Amino acid sequence: MQKIKLLPEHEIHKIAAGQVVDRPANIVKELIENSIDAGSTQISLYIEDGGKELIRVSDNGCGMLEVDAKKSIQKHATSKIRSLDDLESINTFGFRGEALASISAVSKVTILTKEEKAEQGIKLEVQESNITDESLVPFNTGTDIIAKNLFYNVPARQKFLKKRETENRHITQLLHSFCLDYLAIHFKLFIDGKVSLNCPPTKDIVSRTAQIWGHSFAEHMIPIEVEKPDKKITISGAITNHQYFRYDRSNIFFFVNKRWIKNHQLSNALLKGYLNAMPPGKYPAACIFIQVDPKEVDVNTHPRKEEVKFLHPRTVASLLQTTVKKALEEHLSAQLHKKVTLSSQDQQMRPQQTDNTYSSASSNFQPFNFDSFLKQSAQKTSGNVYTPQPAEQNVPEETPVQHSSRIEQLEQAQQPTPIQTSITPSYTQHAIEQQQYNIVGQFKRTYILIEKEDGLFFVDQHAAHERVLYQIFSKRFEEMATVKLLFPQIISLKEDDIMALERHLEIFKSNGIEIEVFGENQIIVQSTPVHIKDINMQELVQEVIAWIYEYQELDKDEFFKKVNEKMHAQMSCKAAIKAGDTMTIEQMEKLLADLEKTENRFTCPHGRPTGWILTIHDIEKKFKRKL
Ligand code: ADP
Ligand code: MG
Repeated sequence: MQKIKLLPEHEIHKIAAGQVVDRPANIVKELIENSIDAGSTQISLYIEDGGKELIRVSDNGCGMLEVDAKKSIQKHATSKIRSLDDLESINTFGFRGEALASISAVSKVTILTKEEKAEQGIKLEVQESNITDESLVPFNTGTDIIAKNLFYNVPARQKFLKKRETENRHITQLLHSFCLDYLAIHFKLFIDGKVSLNCPPTKDIVSRTAQIWGHSFAEHMIPIEVEKPDKKITISGAITNHQYFRYDRSNIFFFVNKRWIKNHQLSNALLKGYLNAMPPGKYPAACIFIQVDPKEVDVNTHPRKEEVKFLHPRTVASLLQTTVKKALEEHLSAQLHKKVTLSSQDQQMRPQQTDNTYSSASSNFQPFNFDSFLKQSAQKTSGNVYTPQPAEQNVPEETPVQHSSRIEQLEQAQQPTPIQTSITPSYTQHAIEQQQYNIVGQFKRTYILIEKEDGLFFVDQHAAHERVLYQIFSKRFEEMATVKLLFPQIISLKEDDIMALERHLEIFKSNGIEIEVFGENQIIVQSTPVHIKDINMQELVQEVIAWIYEYQELDKDEFFKKVNEKMHAQMSCKAAIKAGDTMTIEQMEKLLADLEKTENRFTCPHGRPTGWILTIHDIEKKFKRKL
């Protein structure tokens, strides 16, 4: 029996269309690019149910004549290229002429358009690429395209559409990129009937960022500009200064020859430019415009042109890195020159840090010590990057709960293992697993030095404690002590973030953190595991929100696993003793004893080694006692 059948033409078309548009943001991109190509100065985008229900782009561009409008939905219909030779020199976005054809193959499309000289506008209803209804209507010059019920006729694809919030986030970020790229265009975004963004034309990128992210954000922006005439490269735009950071990369935008692109090498170069000014796991915001000779860049490496390949990637990357570094240095030295001390608001913009392993060039913090930690922890504020909190919170100076050191908390939380020790002024002897060792002391208040039979052992106190805590958080939750905070931490967040968080409060709960949503913009942390009761919860919560966004496309179990792991690592990192903390011999012993009992004890949860040994053999070789 004959088995192979040819698919009907319209089925083939639907499958091909699904490859061009696989999510609502792709449609938005194609429609807005068309509006820009049409010379629009006003573009409004309307989204319903994450774009699954409705996407509408309305512009005041050149519009289409009736005959062109009808052609526009056909495959390979384009006004932008006539032959392959045009491909090289093309300046507009589209050149495949398949966007409208694809969109109308997988959604119910309405096109309303009027060309300047036409008397009336034309309205077309399109289904499965066929015009099902047409009429002449009064209309202003421009085009309005509505795509409804995405994938109504391709159920297999519909299943893969993500939650409304996920799609909204993709679309919003895309629109941000257009706003940053086209300052002269008035963009508006309406999500489920509410105005979400309104960006009238501006002259400079910094005021555009103020329209998108608010004035307090834009205050941190430093404009950059550099030209390398010999290489025909120009880099311009703006980056945030060292007083700002966020927990994800979603505010880093690169544009190459005016096209928004993603490029790993450029991201790395940007972050390298921030070296020493940005703690690990934290990211700046940046809008970088790179102008290069079109021959120096291949834009056809990605089906939707979202990535590019440079002919000389290192030249571009190193120019970017040095430009960023220089801009930050100049900004810093200008600030110092003005003898500007940080205003109290600025201090809150940067969440309080007590971890000097993560010190930054700009920081004005003191090395950690227990005394100051105790005082500081009684005054912690919940200031954050977005919504500064009042500097002073009404927290009493001392409470029994807040008066214990991190090491003491460790002891409270676990049943202390009785250890037999005999402490001499400089040495202490201790036997674990029949192995003898002496703690020589603490080096640089960061490393524990241990004398062993076979050499000198260095243990990184922070990494070691992190590993111990990680095990407690991930393995022994039932045994983990939690405390109700005497002074619950109130944290201000953006509405979107609260919505994202609200759906995942269970993850916090399963880690001993009890959170209640309090109004539209605030949450209250009521209780935490005893180990982390003094940490800056604002920071942890924002990190978790960033992970929620990052991982939300995974399936439920994978998502829970990922976020949970990250959370354990971060809680451990924050609660662990820091480099710079003075430790007593007893505390060092306790930590080493705990480390001995911990799985994977040779690395911290981030993969750094907890310790290493300088063998007696190596030492003797250095002294030329041995060869
Ligand atoms: P391409 O953009 O690659 O040419 P599209 O399928 O996106 O292909 O659009 C087909 C044609 O429809 C365009 O070449 C353009 O002439 C016309 N068109 C589409 N959208 C608009 C719009 N918003 N304003 C004016 N013309 C438009
Ligand atoms: Mg197009």
